[in-house]
Amino acid sequence: MKRHASSALSRLSPLVTRSLKRKLILCYHRFSAPGYPDLFHSPVSTVPLQELEKQLSWLKKFADFVPLEEIQSSATLHPTSLKKISKSANKKRWQIAITIDDGYRDVIDLALPIFNAFEVPVSWFITTRPVADQHWIPWWDLSAWLANQTAGNIQIHSEHVNARFDISNRDDRQKLQNHLQFLALQVGHSATEQVAQQIIEQTDLAGNAYCRAQDLHSALKKHELLLAPHTHHHSNLSLMSPEAQRQEIGDSRTHLKQWGITPLNWFAYPFGKPWARTTETPKLVRDLGFENALTTQMGYIDKHSTAFELPRISVDGRWNIRDFRSRVLFGPLAQSIKRFKR
Ligand SMILES: [Zn+2]
Repeated sequence: MKRHASSALSRLSPLVTRSLKRKLILCYHRFSAPGYPDLFHSPVSTVPLQELEKQLSWLKKFADFVPLEEIQSSATLHPTSLKKISKSANKKRWQIAITIDDGYRDVIDLALPIFNAFEVPVSWFITTRPVADQHWIPWWDLSAWLANQTAGNIQIHSEHVNARFDISNRDDRQKLQNHLQFLALQVGHSATEQVAQQIIEQTDLAGNAYCRAQDLHSALKKHELLLAPHTHHHSNLSLMSPEAQRQEIGDSRTHLKQWGITPLNWFAYPFGKPWARTTETPKLVRDLGFENALTTQMGYIDKHSTAFELPRISVDGRWNIRDFRSRVLFGPLAQSIKRFKR
């Protein structure tokens, strides 16, 4: 049934792309290729390179790839950008800006050369702690790693968890993964750190899968690329005081600057969803001097978009090209219909 719907949507595709000119921002995270090592594989956030190529080939038929700043400035018709836009934007074509979140090394090794080949400008939002410290492995990567382990034991003594986990046992592995997720999303940063550190100490993991600051420098030289902050630890901001949130957001910008990088004055919220920020968070971001901020709530950029909660379509690594097309063409509309019905 789903397949029928999807192919019916595909047949509608030329009609939609020709009759409606839309602006949208895509969000990627990680990429994979046959033979490329990945200890922390997460199918949801990792797009196979051959799918990325299919996606870009399809998009370029009806869309111009534009820098992030251009998409928003053309939505608000900022006078200083008008000249630039009239030169580059074909009125009949869609405008698409590409963003990548987090800071994984596979972006540099695998994806940037493809974006380059398609002449696509990229804005990359960096979580700075794992770039600064290769031994700091984020909890979601530890969780992905645990899912693929088949032997060993892990003992945890912390305020919230006191147990021994038999990693050869699937239920035990899952329990430890659930603890990590619960601590990170419901309890807070330091409770998560306690458990994550103990896991790391009991494994032979050599480091995280993030790039280093010097890798960012060489990528900037080779590609049409801008970097921007994505917090220091990628914590759930809704569990933090306004002051702690300000620090978490500001620290990532400070780190980029300390590495000699001029960051784009945009911010991307960790996790992107409303549950991971407070109503104050967008105001804090504005007070810190940012011009725009990105969510992962699905939507097109239009005159209703608000500068500090701009929508994006986050690309799921499990989508095939048909899924991708229907999300790009109809996903945001389906989302608004759902909202309307509620
Ligand atoms: Zn992120």
